[in-house]
Amino acid sequence: MSAIDTLPPLREVIAGHGLRAKKALGQNFLLDLNLTARIARVAGDLSGTDVLEVGPGPGGLTRGLLAEGARHVLAVEKDARCLPALAEIAAACPGRLTVLEGDALALDPLAHLTPPIAICANLPYNVGTELLVRWLTPPDWPPVWRSLTLMFQREVAERIVAAPGSKAYGRLAVLAQWRCEARIALSLPPEAFAPPPKVSSAVVHFDALPAPRFPADAKILERVVAAAFNQRRKMLRAALKGLAPDIEDRLRAAGIAPTDRAEVVPLEGFCALARQFES
Ligand code: SAM
Repeated sequence: MSAIDTLPPLREVIAGHGLRAKKALGQNFLLDLNLTARIARVAGDLSGTDVLEVGPGPGGLTRGLLAEGARHVLAVEKDARCLPALAEIAAACPGRLTVLEGDALALDPLAHLTPPIAICANLPYNVGTELLVRWLTPPDWPPVWRSLTLMFQREVAERIVAAPGSKAYGRLAVLAQWRCEARIALSLPPEAFAPPPKVSSAVVHFDALPAPRFPADAKILERVVAAAFNQRRKMLRAALKGLAPDIEDRLRAAGIAPTDRAEVVPLEGFCALARQFES
């Protein structure tokens, strides 16, 4: 039995440290350690890997990551009330868990880690999508991380893996599939969390590709795709009018009909269009 297994059940930890869930911080905790171990296993073989966990809360997933053999876990938590519970886990795994108190959106935690790096998190929806887009759009590729294993609302997970032509296809699908292999690895009902959220959730696993599938500048692609899907019912010549007065010529040069709508344009088409803006 490892020292992690001797820690008290999460319900006791939450009661003992008075961790009443705060809605404003998107706190829906995972209490089943079998489930957190399963999520940690989705991240792959963690031995010899540094793991960034954002939003550890009382530490259910943190325990899973450590039990699955992570070399080192850096956990960034905004809620100072969780720190004593996390300190107990750190004490059970000397030298393997560092906790940073703060807002993951304001810090650069990846700078503290040594590759290979895996990122694993069960985050509130807003913070999760914002961090995901940041992690997917660094100027250079491959990124410093090897994989992302992230919990989302089921509907957001479906948007990430959606194919062109489907209603769910949009900005997240293009940005994720351009540079990663992304798949839904686990689905979780609301009852898996305490307190249960209103909707179902899913864990999405992203493996960074060695190179993007098609050449494009990340920031330009992000801008073009955001504009295209912002008015997804409009023809692209209208939706993208604000980007350039000669947008119809640029669309044609990228092999896209100006009368098409964003949702039918494949990844390759958006990358070709982004290249039209590079000069
Ligand atoms: N990982 C824990 C689990 O699975 O039980 C907690 C998950 S809970 C959905 C989200 C966690 O993220 C909370 O502990 C919350 O305090 C934390 N959090 C929210 N916003 C954050 C931010 N901007 N930076 C770091 N942590 C944040």
